[in-house]
Amino acid sequence: MARYVFITGGVVSSLGKGLASAALGALLQARGYTVRLRKLDPYLNVDPGTMSPFEHGEVFVTDDGAETDLDLGHYERFTGVAARNTDSISSGRVYTNVLEKERRGDYLGKTIQVIPHVTNEIKDFIEIGDDEVDFMLCEIGGTVGDIEGLPFFEAIRQFAQDRPRGQCIFMHLTLLPYIAASGELKTKPTQHSVKELRTIGLQPNVLVCRSEHPIPEKEREKIALFCNVRKEDVIAAPDLKSIYEAPLAYHREGLDQAVLDAFGIAPAPKPDLTVWHDVADRVFNPEGEVKVAIVGKYVQLEDAYKSIAEALTHGGMANRVKVKVEWVDAELFESEDAAPYLEGFHAILVPGGFGERGTEGKIKAAQFARERKIPYLGICLGMQMAVIEAARNLAGIEAAGSEEFDHEAGKKRFEPVVYHLKEWVQGNHKVRRKSTDDKGGTMRLGAYSATLTAGSRVAEAYGTTQIEERHRHRYEVDTKYREQLEKHGMVFSGMSPDGRLPEIVEIKDHPWYIGVQFHPELKSKPFAPAPLFKDFIRAAKENSRLV
Ligand code: GLN
Repeated sequence: MARYVFITGGVVSSLGKGLASAALGALLQARGYTVRLRKLDPYLNVDPGTMSPFEHGEVFVTDDGAETDLDLGHYERFTGVAARNTDSISSGRVYTNVLEKERRGDYLGKTIQVIPHVTNEIKDFIEIGDDEVDFMLCEIGGTVGDIEGLPFFEAIRQFAQDRPRGQCIFMHLTLLPYIAASGELKTKPTQHSVKELRTIGLQPNVLVCRSEHPIPEKEREKIALFCNVRKEDVIAAPDLKSIYEAPLAYHREGLDQAVLDAFGIAPAPKPDLTVWHDVADRVFNPEGEVKVAIVGKYVQLEDAYKSIAEALTHGGMANRVKVKVEWVDAELFESEDAAPYLEGFHAILVPGGFGERGTEGKIKAAQFARERKIPYLGICLGMQMAVIEAARNLAGIEAAGSEEFDHEAGKKRFEPVVYHLKEWVQGNHKVRRKSTDDKGGTMRLGAYSATLTAGSRVAEAYGTTQIEERHRHRYEVDTKYREQLEKHGMVFSGMSPDGRLPEIVEIKDHPWYIGVQFHPELKSKPFAPAPLFKDFIRAAKENSRLV
């Protein structure tokens, strides 16, 4: 039976609850325990798949094809444990499950209520895979006091009661605002937030307090006294220069010790933090810098490409360089020369995306990188843009475009070198789609294998010809154009095992030009960088010596 740590947040949102949870996971692993992390989100969308990245940041995809919250990305990056679709749930999913059961007649004769039906559904979810790990870390999204979060708080309260004593603890994250005029850290919002928790029957065991400044002894005592926690269990979480410092920083502040104490685990096993010392060393002691442009549409919100930004950092760590990322809005040069915007970068990355807006700019970025021999990594839409660019400018298919944009515009304007994928093989069954299907959860999602051409750049980067990467797309490059494109220098160096779906394209006569239909960033970790990002930054580093 697993031990449970429930992680909640108060005062304000965006306190880094996901990161604190992930760092705690890493610290428990460093002490020899197995962990799994889970996110319970109070919003009503069934999953974040249909939300705009502007609203919610990146959608993180798991191997088994779930579209989840970006915090699951943090969990994977810090623990290396691959998340599953049972590690993320929203109110929307909970209610959908309950209502489906009601329609089926599972509760026949009963009135369906939040307590016990909704809370039971949440509790059942929390304990999936209970016997597989030593610790289950469950983060509740949102902030204590939110109306929509209440069923989750009630469910975790009941859950802890149902379990044997000492099996569940509560960790609460708050903010200590700093008032510059008086030079003080204020504890009142934390007191109120814990009071709010206690009115719904939850007493935190560990309090993690975010603050810009160290917590003076006096304030720590006050927090302990008013919030009914021990002084050693008030953990300071000062702002960090890099998120990869978090495990070491939280360990220094005593977080893992406080958690083990709360479970009564004594003596606590000693931690081995070698990996995190090495990670920190690579982050803080780079031997150079490379500049990478990410040419995209969602550039105002960095969280929209969270995993890409992190994977670039990992690639930099592997090559001992700092990766300076600049976000370039693709719409800026749709009807202008791209050169003034892109000159000076050592590498260009065009990430995934949806819809036509900004695509002509992305195509120009792909062309600029190809012609100027700048390392180029196109991910998903970024690969499709590279193919359209090559079709137009190398193979002479002037009207080349994607069916996605024609669908959007409601008329046919392009010759679709990228078309709407309606049928593919997943494991040992066929998946079929229509353009009239629901939008949610109907893309080609999750891990699929690809077979790489021996001797290709991509096979060299991976060091193998068989790979498995995560996908999230509806459209696909048409193999009808393969021969024509290959004749003009764009080779299809990775295909689905049945040879029907192009997974990777490369430009032969180029130092490093690769487009991939999948998302290699999703599996990258600071201690195990994604091979493509590692090699992309190596190429950028080489290019930085030339320019
Ligand atoms: N919009 C494109 C598709 O659906 C690309 C998706 C993506 O970049 N994730 O195929």
